[in-house]
Amino acid sequence: MKLYQGIHSLQNYLKGKRAQNLQIGFVPTMGALHNGHLSLVKFAHQKCDVVVCSIFVNPTQFNNEKDLEFYPRPIKNDIKLLVEAGCHVLFHPQTSEMYGSGLHKDSSANYGSFIEVLEGAHRPGHFDGVITIVKRLFEIVEPNEVFFGQKDYQQCLVVKKLIARNFRNISFNQCVIEREPDGLAMSSRNVRLNIAEREAANTLYTALMHIKNNWTRQNWLNAISKARAIIENNPLLNLAYLSVAHPATLQQLNAFEEKAVALIAVNCGEIRLIDNVLLG
Ligand code: AMP
Repeated sequence: MKLYQGIHSLQNYLKGKRAQNLQIGFVPTMGALHNGHLSLVKFAHQKCDVVVCSIFVNPTQFNNEKDLEFYPRPIKNDIKLLVEAGCHVLFHPQTSEMYGSGLHKDSSANYGSFIEVLEGAHRPGHFDGVITIVKRLFEIVEPNEVFFGQKDYQQCLVVKKLIARNFRNISFNQCVIEREPDGLAMSSRNVRLNIAEREAANTLYTALMHIKNNWTRQNWLNAISKARAIIENNPLLNLAYLSVAHPATLQQLNAFEEKAVALIAVNCGEIRLIDNVLLG
């Protein structure tokens, strides 16, 4: 696997690959890799000739200083996992390489109301940071295909919109959520949960599956109330939101619709957990 920290050397390498008509697949991450990330690398491998992964803990998308400070950065192990997964190129830049001096952020204003709800409402400025860094990475890598996880459902909508606006020749791939055996969605932040919190954390999946298994015109409202109660009855969990929404607009449903998405965010001790399931 090739490892680049500088933009120009990476671009030179990729220019050569593009000249050979090879398809470039790109998986952006913040590192502390787990099987969720590696599944994206594997999807990219199936569809593309050259798989590029980036590891960059993007400061402008954090709205909590402690979360940024304690974000895990096990780069040696990440490199080992990427080599095993067959990744061809790792881009691992310093903050100054991506931002120069200062930390300028683009604005997500005018993206549409779907960006203002859920994570957008609870983490002010988060999607400004996401748009800034994803745009910069797409400009640098110039991929043919990009691979993102459904785990960050709202982020997928944001990136699709960015592509529709600025990168029409990039194809977007949304990949399924990889889970632990008890249902907890894999996340780099899970390693920071203590034993009791880790046990409580799988309640998110229990609540979401309760909605999915009772998703009928007759039962849908009761199912959402019961799911909310499942979370609220757990003393280690603090519910930020549970929303059952239209899959494209993310506006909360006020009548039953077959196709929808249930999205949840919970604070578990210091750790924020998110998850979702598609309904219908
Ligand atoms: P992150 O490093 O958290 O920024 O995530 C990098 C990419 O991996 C994003 O597209 C995430 O949606 C995706 N991802 C994170 N967790 C999972 C998971 N459990 N299953 C599948 N993809 C995931």
